[in-house]
Amino acid sequence: MILILHPNIDKSSQEYRELMDYLSALRGIRARAHDVEGAQQRLTEIYLLGDTSALQVEEMSLLPGVERVVRVSEEYRILGRHKDDRRSTGFEYNGVRFGQDTLHIFAGLCAVDTPANAEAVMRALTGSGLSCTRMGAYKPRTSPYSFQGHGKACLPYVFELAGKHRIKVVAMEVTHESHVDDIREALEATGHPTGVMLQVGTRNTQNFELLKKVGRQQDFPVLLKRGFGITLEESLNAAEYLASEGNQRVIFALRGMKTNMGDPHRNFVDFAHVPVVKRLTRMPVCIDPSHSVGTRERAPDGLMDIFHATAQGVIAGANMILVDFHPDPAKALVDGPQALLLSELPHFVEDVRIAREAYEKRAAAAKSYATEVA
Ligand code: PEP
Ligand code: MN
Repeated sequence: MILILHPNIDKSSQEYRELMDYLSALRGIRARAHDVEGAQQRLTEIYLLGDTSALQVEEMSLLPGVERVVRVSEEYRILGRHKDDRRSTGFEYNGVRFGQDTLHIFAGLCAVDTPANAEAVMRALTGSGLSCTRMGAYKPRTSPYSFQGHGKACLPYVFELAGKHRIKVVAMEVTHESHVDDIREALEATGHPTGVMLQVGTRNTQNFELLKKVGRQQDFPVLLKRGFGITLEESLNAAEYLASEGNQRVIFALRGMKTNMGDPHRNFVDFAHVPVVKRLTRMPVCIDPSHSVGTRERAPDGLMDIFHATAQGVIAGANMILVDFHPDPAKALVDGPQALLLSELPHFVEDVRIAREAYEKRAAAAKSYATEVA
């Protein structure tokens, strides 16, 4: 059950205190307050967790400060879409708006190797009008003998270079809670030149303790990768862990499923689930064509499979693209075979623009046909 408070309720007010006193006396129920962005103003919502079946909607609506009550019986209580649910589907971070109706390209290095390569990528991004990137510092590798990422050591120059090239958000995987502190400290030390979106990778989708820790911080939004060997429902519940701990600024990433049914692609591309995730939840949806496809193979029409998969996700309404680029893929320390060249960036951006325009036309047509039927 969710109690949506009147917009003018202050947390230090008498009304708010009375409400929280009443809720804390309810047995077996935890009340958790979340500040969310409403259409016009910030709103406070109180989520009641536990068995709420004995509570009456009418009675709860009369409590001090409460404007509206939404009974949530379905899954994904916080991030899901529910009946009579008018909550927003997005958030703003460091001047960038993320929602189910926006689209951002996060092109960049799978793994940061040298400052020169990080800078070459960022310069190319700015040249193509992009202001977000991906820069892997902590790499979860299959083999303990493979390059594990430069970790904390590369953060200061990555952030400084991002600031220099006017990059607003850097997506960066964390595999341990201490990495969040490293990132916070490096941003502090460099004077906050950019923003960071924490990435929880596919190997950690069900690392519940990491999810709880990342969910408890409010400084950074989170990009949660779908687990490569679990159901969609299980991965969406993992996203709900982040939200139930307090962080609702979550983007859900499709990155392909591990099965040899997807051969010769690295993973079985799952971008047909873009509209499914948008229907079930209020999360913006990201696609990762690089980790899905995994190669630079090209179709007879001249387009690489990575371009085709990207277009398939974008034409289905994807809101974010995470894609690997490298100035010299042969020398990349991680995932070189799937990296696009910087010289291919303008074509990639143009191809995405074409697919997005087609999506917008499709969505407009859907609206006009719906009106005709009605
Ligand atoms: C990545 O994006 O660098 C990555 C390791 O992705 P995934 O967790 O989807 O394998
Ligand atoms: Mn990778």
